[in-house]
Amino acid sequence: MEHFIDEESTWLAHNYHPLDVVIRSGHGAWVEDTEGDRYLDCLAGYSAVNFGHTNDRLVARATEQMGRLTMISRAFRNDQLGPLARELATLCEAEMVLPMNTGAEAVETAIKTARAWGYRVKGVPEDRANIIVMGSNFHGRTTTVISFSDDDDARRDFGPYTQGFRQATFGNVASVERLVDPNTVAVLTEPIQGEAGVIIPPDDFMPGLRELCSRNNVLLIADEIQSGLGRTGTTLACDLWGVKPDLMTLGKALGGGIVPVSAVVGRRDVLGVLGPGQHGSTFGGNPLSAAVAREVVQILAEGKPQANVRRLAPQMRRGLESMEGIEHFTHVGLWSGVTIPEELGTGRDLCERLAAHGVLAKDTHGSTVRLSPPLTVTSEDVEFMLTGLAAALADLG
Ligand SMILES: *Cc1c(COP(=O)(O)O)cnc(C)c1O
Repeated sequence: MEHFIDEESTWLAHNYHPLDVVIRSGHGAWVEDTEGDRYLDCLAGYSAVNFGHTNDRLVARATEQMGRLTMISRAFRNDQLGPLARELATLCEAEMVLPMNTGAEAVETAIKTARAWGYRVKGVPEDRANIIVMGSNFHGRTTTVISFSDDDDARRDFGPYTQGFRQATFGNVASVERLVDPNTVAVLTEPIQGEAGVIIPPDDFMPGLRELCSRNNVLLIADEIQSGLGRTGTTLACDLWGVKPDLMTLGKALGGGIVPVSAVVGRRDVLGVLGPGQHGSTFGGNPLSAAVAREVVQILAEGKPQANVRRLAPQMRRGLESMEGIEHFTHVGLWSGVTIPEELGTGRDLCERLAAHGVLAKDTHGSTVRLSPPLTVTSEDVEFMLTGLAAALADLG
């Protein structure tokens, strides 16, 4: 294992600080390292692996497509992209789809679309559009996206920053309302904040934003890149409150853990403002990505992952409620942010102890650890995760 670590620290930029486990294979919720030790993957690639590692259906679909056509570019049409747009829009009860690759690109696309809609449809004067975002947001790593982050590590020394964003308080509709003016084109929020530590807003937040945006002719953009596609036991986190955003961004699990696939999904009269040449991506909508995403959409349309999440969520909640040594936790579906008392250690310390007990997880901030296993886990897997957590806490205590 040591030589893998040495190679990485010499040849790889140090923009991550991974745990010292070297994974070489995985199936379902379980992965194996180069020493032959097995772990339950309770990060699931930040929810990119919602349907499990080397998922048989997804691998079969990708393999079949790889032997036929992988990349043609949007200069020509391909036989996977139109069907994906229809099937994904139908799954999301939306009208139009714009395919990209990574999550940050989908967010950039939503921002550009909202601005263009503001100038062309709403009538905002040139270069005056503003977008309201939330404190402790995470929407990706591009220069524009980090311009409206309040995470000092993500932002410091990367200026000058993109203008046109205002920050409200997540969970507080009144704080958003105070920032709305005639040049506001959109409110951009995660329905549940993932990287901030799985922060679940009060029940009046998303419905309140929906009402506020409709009343002021402002677009509601939900970033469902981490919260969406089954994690919460519903297809989209917005479904928890029956809220329909005007645009939403999808990514991570949309690529089935095989290829990066993202998309903006939403209203035809909004996405329809973009014309040829105004936005694009070399790889966006390529037939391999589209084929894998179609299988993901099919899996979600059948509803089994969401049903499994709803079945196991109470077990996860009960386990966390009765766990000793936790300061507090948030929980929805198969998604939880567990915070330990500072004197016990950092989130990193807890993750190291969890790994020693066969559970892989990742700290978010400070003393908070996210638990987000693949949606394919069994009741025994959930029990293994909870037992590992109890043992890790006992080690620290
Ligand atoms: C991960 C994430 C992104 C960025 O996705 P990338 O594929 O890493 O660019 C954007 N928004 C949210 C909510 C995310 O969790």
